[in-house]
Amino acid sequence: MLGADGLHSAVRRVTFGPEQDYLHHLGLYVALADLPGENDSVRRSPMYNFPDHLAGIARYNDKALGVFLFRSGLIDYDHHDVDAQKMIVADAFGDTTSWKVPQLLDAVHDDGEFYFDSVSQIHMPTWHEGRVALVGDAAHCASLLSGRGTSLALTGAYILAEELAHESDDLATAFERYEARQRPYVEFAQNSVGDGAAIMVPTSWEAIAERNERFPLTLDH
Ligand SMILES: Cc1cc2nc3c(=O)[nH]c(=O)nc-3n(C[C@H](O)[C@H](O)[C@H](O)COP(=O)(O)OP(=O)(O)OC[C@H]3O[C@@H](n4cnc5c(N)ncnc54)[C@H](O)[C@@H]3O)c2cc1C
Repeated sequence: MLGADGLHSAVRRVTFGPEQDYLHHLGLYVALADLPGENDSVRRSPMYNFPDHLAGIARYNDKALGVFLFRSGLIDYDHHDVDAQKMIVADAFGDTTSWKVPQLLDAVHDDGEFYFDSVSQIHMPTWHEGRVALVGDAAHCASLLSGRGTSLALTGAYILAEELAHESDDLATAFERYEARQRPYVEFAQNSVGDGAAIMVPTSWEAIAERNERFPLTLDH
């Protein structure tokens, strides 16, 4: 059996044990909400920071999303309870009337497919056990701070398929070869998080000003 079921993999939990044994929380939460009425021919993706928080608009072709990032330790919530997740975002940003934050929070309220999760990595000593193997975020989530997660999921699946084709009678060898080939890419990506959080979500007004000097931005009012 292959588990390709993402950061909160049920296959990993059943085969390897509880998520907290493998999850490394990077101190941030992310939320995305659809912005159906948001058109901008210039295709800008503006963002607004206040300490420990970022709110922004991300545009992909004809789609626009409200983006929220905020610093927090791990929060205990039901992954299936979307309303509870919306409340967490509303609590984190609710006092802010600056920029477009209130409109973006309205979008959170209205979005039936709202996305919310911790920014975390998965670190496992091995990705296979018996006849079960994990691929993609289930095995080695690198997080949005590093990027490359989609590439890792695809290359991992490709390498695993190749090794299974070569070693169809010896699953253990196929899985070991898959891990040996894939792990260097994973370690590179997971180690490349760097100062992404400090750049995207500075912790003070001083740090925000320093970041803005380093990466000059055009504010969208
Ligand atoms: C905000 C954000 C921005 C990102 N930006 C980038 C980027 O710019 N570049 C990049 O490369 N990566 C990026 N990533 C990371 C990338 O999205 C992931 O690394 C990638 O999607 C992992 O693919 P996956 O198939 O392993 O897992 P997922 O994409 O999580 O897919 C897992 C699938 O399994 C399904 N599933 C879960 N449980 C079950 C079940 N019990 N039964 C059936 N199906 C189930 C889920 O519904 C889901 O469809 C970003 C991630 C986030 C959150």
